[in-house]
Amino acid sequence: MQLYKDQNLRVHNSLTGKKEVFQPINEGHVGMYVCGPTVYSNVHLGNCRTFMSFDMIFRYFKHLGYKVRYVRNITDAGHLENDADDGEDKIAKKAKLEQIEPMEVVQRYTVDFHNTLQQFNLLPPSIEPTATGHIIEQIEIIKEILEKGYAYEANGSVYFDVIKFNKDHEYGKLSGRKLEDMIANTRELTAQDEKRNPQDFALWKKAEPQHIMRWPSPWGDGFPGWHLECTAMSTKYLGETFDIHGGGMDLKFPHHECEIAQAEASTGKSPVKYWLHANMLTLNGKKMSKSTGNNIYPSEIISGDNTILSKAYSPAVVRFFMMQAHYTSILDLSDEALQASEKGYNRLMEAMGSLDALKTGSKSDFDVLAWKQKCYDAMNDDFNTPILIAHLFDAVKHINLIKEEKESITEADKAELSSTMTAFVYEVLGIENQSLAKDDSNALNGVMELLIQLRNEARANKDFATSDKIRDELTALGIQLKDGKDGTTFSIN
Ligand SMILES: [Zn+2]
Repeated sequence: MQLYKDQNLRVHNSLTGKKEVFQPINEGHVGMYVCGPTVYSNVHLGNCRTFMSFDMIFRYFKHLGYKVRYVRNITDAGHLENDADDGEDKIAKKAKLEQIEPMEVVQRYTVDFHNTLQQFNLLPPSIEPTATGHIIEQIEIIKEILEKGYAYEANGSVYFDVIKFNKDHEYGKLSGRKLEDMIANTRELTAQDEKRNPQDFALWKKAEPQHIMRWPSPWGDGFPGWHLECTAMSTKYLGETFDIHGGGMDLKFPHHECEIAQAEASTGKSPVKYWLHANMLTLNGKKMSKSTGNNIYPSEIISGDNTILSKAYSPAVVRFFMMQAHYTSILDLSDEALQASEKGYNRLMEAMGSLDALKTGSKSDFDVLAWKQKCYDAMNDDFNTPILIAHLFDAVKHINLIKEEKESITEADKAELSSTMTAFVYEVLGIENQSLAKDDSNALNGVMELLIQLRNEARANKDFATSDKIRDELTALGIQLKDGKDGTTFSIN
């Protein structure tokens, strides 16, 4: 269904600082690129929040009926320790530290990244390209930028000429910085610097002999600059200009600013129509940081194995908690906040579970169609999930009143309410009903108890044909019965 034809979605564009009506370049299609992780350590909770925000955005576009191509990369080379183009490659450093191959580091943390995101019920992107898989494309873009005169070679490295670019374009327009101010606020170059100006950034870095991750290029053996991979992969899969580019707020400068410069220098076109930035997550009111210990990993929240929170929280509760804040707002995680979210989540799931059994009547005390449009209006206002959730709880209140027979609802309204709740809770917000899984195992335990009891009765009556049949049929289903001195237990293969 092409719901987007009836909905007027507006998104906050970081490039203009305004909410703008979303009009895709190709009708009915959305191209979205989000900067993925550098896979040299376990994924941080703050990064999870960013990817979850864009997962919700991806889901809403799909819900509206758009055909979405969502590209999220994996940075497996070229990301140096600091933004000034020096320091070691983050992946190579970890590999040296652990005495393993860089690709072992990449594999280990890519698996962690996927597992963690899957736990939080994130949908996989349409394409997940890697930097090392697109070296040729990156070299091609460097050649184009050199040809256009916006880059220069120095001692086997290639740098982007920011001063030259700024003469014909506007460097700093995304982050609201002026090149003059940047120049005034940076240190002078030292004699051994290869760059003409401190603002210049590397497109290609010469690999020193000890550097393990290296590729041949027209400028000698080296590796691509971090900013370049996103330009190469977004252009390759989404075209020279595409609809949405997303990422964490911290990537606005220099990363996204450099992406714009590279694309404009090579194609002459502005690469992105709408830039979307997700805000950060704090912990107990402070910035999360491994060095200060004010940090928690996703797995530690789920297992409860940490000193910061009083208990474990399910991934669905954590996701619900994240969705209760607007993606552009700072969100603070604390034990109290998670406890409150858990209560809210349980109330929501209880209401979802009672929808089917609601009795219907000849009139409705709840204007379902008006409520439904309010839900869409919230999402159409730059994906305002906290307002959407407030509307969902308004519905929960009515569901409970109908359950208590203090209000009534017609059959048609009930169907509308049910399908809208299901769409927003499960499909758009991606909140899983994990209490369902618990109910399933409760039901299974009950059935098994009954079967074990019947088998015991058959054995007591010396009806071995029946007792054996129960055991054999269960074995065929992959369920093993074990007779011990405390009775019979079962295990599932
Ligand atoms: Zn990027």
